[in-house]
Amino acid sequence: MRIPFIDLKQQFHRLEPEIRRRMDAVLAHGQFILGPEVDELERELAAFTGVRHAIGCSSGTDALLLALMAHGVGPGDAIFLPPFTFVATAEVVALLGATPVFVDVDPETFNIDPEALRLALRALDMGDPGKYPLPAGVGRLTPRGVIPVDIFGLSADYAAIQSLADKHGLFVLQDAAQSFGGLYHGKRCGAMGHVGATSFFPAKPLGCYGDGGAVFTDDDELAALMRSLLFHGKGGHKYDNDRIGINGRLDTLQAAILLPKLAIFTEELDARQRVAERYTELLAPVPGLTLQAIPQGCRSAWAQFSFLHERRDAIQQALHAAGIPTAVYYPKPLHMQKAFANLGYRPEDMPVSLDLSRRIMSLPMHPYLDDALIAEISAAVAGAAS
Ligand SMILES: *Cc1c(COP(=O)(O)O)cnc(C)c1O
Repeated sequence: MRIPFIDLKQQFHRLEPEIRRRMDAVLAHGQFILGPEVDELERELAAFTGVRHAIGCSSGTDALLLALMAHGVGPGDAIFLPPFTFVATAEVVALLGATPVFVDVDPETFNIDPEALRLALRALDMGDPGKYPLPAGVGRLTPRGVIPVDIFGLSADYAAIQSLADKHGLFVLQDAAQSFGGLYHGKRCGAMGHVGATSFFPAKPLGCYGDGGAVFTDDDELAALMRSLLFHGKGGHKYDNDRIGINGRLDTLQAAILLPKLAIFTEELDARQRVAERYTELLAPVPGLTLQAIPQGCRSAWAQFSFLHERRDAIQQALHAAGIPTAVYYPKPLHMQKAFANLGYRPEDMPVSLDLSRRIMSLPMHPYLDDALIAEISAAVAGAAS
């Protein structure tokens, strides 16, 4: 492909001396596990996000896992989440023996639909799958938490979700793996709910050069618990084990790589916003094309720039022929995945997710995409769509 889907090279070229200097410093001091760069990054992340505690960890998946473990989630617990997401969101729930309860998404924002969440809570409460599709054959479940996913970088509807969560005594775990850097009514993504989780996978808006992630919370007790859990449940001393945990630390080298990237992140987010606005301008008039709706008060981190079209496959083929890479997130919603077949969902149980999976596609998106390329890509879409 002539054009990269996500261009990491231009950023590296820009930051190379600083990244190498930071990595060299780690090689020189040799504190590869929980070295000073991890502390420094955590302080910077907390300040950026506006939360009391930012804690580095080994991946976005482990960030979600740590947050669930800190809430004591286990067998018999119901965790509500959208099926239109990356598998990790539901995987961690199942890994702990709890049950993912799928809640369909909104057809305009592609995020969890609060009205569907209300119905799912009611259905579970009454044990009546006639009110809303529920997982089959799992017995009595206790509603414990909800994991809204900020899909493609756009925050979910936290005001509506939090009010439902409060009414039902649920915790809210924000899956901000795609939205870190995004804004929801002046607040940074990661800071919503009781705890936020993000990923520093290389292709995410803020990515390292391997796996990494972080959890965010204002709750001191939860923060201490997650710090213990990511280090084999350690107590006051390294070899005191107070609880069952995991090996879930963020590498010092990855923290060293993230520091210079975080320093230019705000500028890159502005650049992403400019790219998205330019795409929007050029693509909004294309017949039959629907863009992801961005509600008032929200600013996406634009992990992906996505749209819906009936002729998705034809558009994808035309772009491929023109040397323009595209992707489909997600071709199969989680309620249709073999890994969750035991939950007994039917495809039509989540009609919006099913429809999105058939019509959605994503275009190249990164902060260094120039106007000429955006125009070329948009023209190719417009040509193939008609
Ligand atoms: C990427 C992603 C994750 C997992 O992050 P990793 O760092 O790859 O483990 C979780 N949830 C969503 C929505 C993601 O996009």
